[in-house]
Amino acid sequence: MIVIEKIAELQAYLNDKKAKSIGFVPTMGALHNGHISLVKRCVEENNICVASVFVNPTQFNDKSDLERYPRTPEADCAMLQEAGCDVVFMPTVSEMYPEEDTRQFSFGSLETVMEGKYRPGHFNGVAQIVSKLFDAVMPHKAYFGEKDFQQVAIIRAMVKQLNYPIEIIACPIIREESGLAMSSRNTLLTEEQRKKAALIAQVLTKSTTFVREKTIAETIDWVIRQFDGDDTFRMDYYEIVDGDSLQPINSWEDSQFIVGCIAVYCGKIRLIDNIHYKG
Ligand code: AMP
Repeated sequence: MIVIEKIAELQAYLNDKKAKSIGFVPTMGALHNGHISLVKRCVEENNICVASVFVNPTQFNDKSDLERYPRTPEADCAMLQEAGCDVVFMPTVSEMYPEEDTRQFSFGSLETVMEGKYRPGHFNGVAQIVSKLFDAVMPHKAYFGEKDFQQVAIIRAMVKQLNYPIEIIACPIIREESGLAMSSRNTLLTEEQRKKAALIAQVLTKSTTFVREKTIAETIDWVIRQFDGDDTFRMDYYEIVDGDSLQPINSWEDSQFIVGCIAVYCGKIRLIDNIHYKG
């Protein structure tokens, strides 16, 4: 495995390899088994697997979130090597943003809901960095986790808008034993918060049994109420949406692909998760 910091060096290395299939896994580091599941799949399905580790400042709407974001480059490299990754791209901020980024994206109704609504500018920042990374790596396939469900829809829209010849592959959510979706931010939880945070996945899982018994409005209400009365939790949103358009739906009959998406603070740490109801 080779670690590269410069775009020119990365491109020279990849050109030289003339690989039939380059697979790419973009990450912000502080890697866990969720990330590694993407890397392993990328290794299996391509001749070369490139993973990037870069904490992208333009996607953080909250400065303190950026400052406390965990950074563990050495452990990340060890995990990537173990997973069979060929190239780790670890650029500096000035390498990725030599000047202020002027790329502006518009994703219409995909970005006015959920994460886009609660984190203004977040998806513009995501599209800025992922497009720059795609330009640098020029992969054939790129792997993203369904944990960030809305992000996958945004990336697919970006690929379409920019005509990238890149196949986007969405991979399932990897969870801790408690059910908690793995996240780099979990390391910022206290032990007690981490135990309590398992409630998120428990509530989502239980709510899938309501599909026939309760209406959508009743299900949303039930989910939100499960976090009442414990001031560890503060809900940003819980929405039940069409899995393609990401727009809220009113009835279980409205779509064949239905997903519930949640964002909830556990203490100061904002956690997201989602569950498929249909499709
Ligand atoms: P991040 O480092 O949080 O930007 O995540 C990098 C990639 O890993 C994104 O495509 C995430 O959706 C994915 N990812 C993060 N956590 C998980 C998880 N628990 N299961 C599967 N994929 C994940």
